Amino acid sequence: AQERYASIRDTACVTASGERINLLMNAGLMADLPSLESSGAEGVGLFRTELQFLVRNQMPRRNELAALYSRVLDAAKGSRVVFRTLDIGSDKVLPYMKPHDEPNPALGWRAIRVGLDKPGVLRMQLQALMRAADGRPLSVMFPFIAQYNEWQAARAEVDKALAREKKLGHVLPERIEVGAMLETPSLAFASQKFFDEVEFLSVGGNDLKQFFFAADRENERVRRRYDTLNVSFLSLLEMVADRSRTSETNLSFCGEDAGRPVEALCLAAIGFRTLSMRPASIGPVKSLLMRSDLTVVRGLIEEARARGDQSVRDSVMAYLRSLG
Ligand code: PEP
Ligand code: MG
Repeated sequence: AQERYASIRDTACVTASGERINLLMNAGLMADLPSLESSGAEGVGLFRTELQFLVRNQMPRRNELAALYSRVLDAAKGSRVVFRTLDIGSDKVLPYMKPHDEPNPALGWRAIRVGLDKPGVLRMQLQALMRAADGRPLSVMFPFIAQYNEWQAARAEVDKALAREKKLGHVLPERIEVGAMLETPSLAFASQKFFDEVEFLSVGGNDLKQFFFAADRENERVRRRYDTLNVSFLSLLEMVADRSRTSETNLSFCGEDAGRPVEALCLAAIGFRTLSMRPASIGPVKSLLMRSDLTVVRGLIEEARARGDQSVRDSVMAYLRSLG
């Protein structure tokens, strides 16, 4: 399948209406990195660090992690890699951590909630990332930030780690950008202060959608009822895009929907300029975006909304058929 898109692999993604869209890839293992070149991705928009913790039977040591992150940065050859700090709990349980029996794990003690309540692992991971950067730029992203004070506390951990590293005489990253995932509806409504402070935001559509529709992402029966192209969901996403533009916050979308061409097209039409997806999706998404006029798609979304359609899928599909 990659072969089919080989001719556009090294072409920048510009839509028929002239918008430049950055296409990044999601990764989680060292073995994913060669795809950076073969897919034509412009960087790694989401590196899920939990995979390294899940494939072991004991907590990895700081030095091991630092060595691994360093190899990831080496393999990226200067392209940006966004490391997401440990996102465990819910569907991802570490075999060597005490299990917590929770009635609703998706709504439970997970991700940054664990990271802030028991900061040992988060601190170790931040140090490992800083040592791996070793004078290179570093991008760190916190998962599952639901409100401003969690962002402040997580951000403060970065500053503390930097101060500690400096005191120990280690080389600091050349610069460090710190961002958050937007995967709870609450964060879309966070104060302006949050949008001004955060250096970048990445929408975790998988979680955001499950919370928006109150439909478990693991439960096929309820998950399939709700279309990502539902006008209400697109309104939420558009609000996030508008707020990010106003506050000049770099915004991306890294949930699975970014890798679905029709969904990716609608995300671009409502203002997303960076999409991060599995490497195999880059070709198909780029190919469709390059043929599409975002102004037309935007108009279709507005018309669907005005008509009271539940989803914009039918009208966007009709437009795509008209393109041939
Ligand atoms: C998401 O929630 O959309 C996301 C990218 O993170 P994960 O799928 O790892 O929860
Ligand atoms: Mg998530």
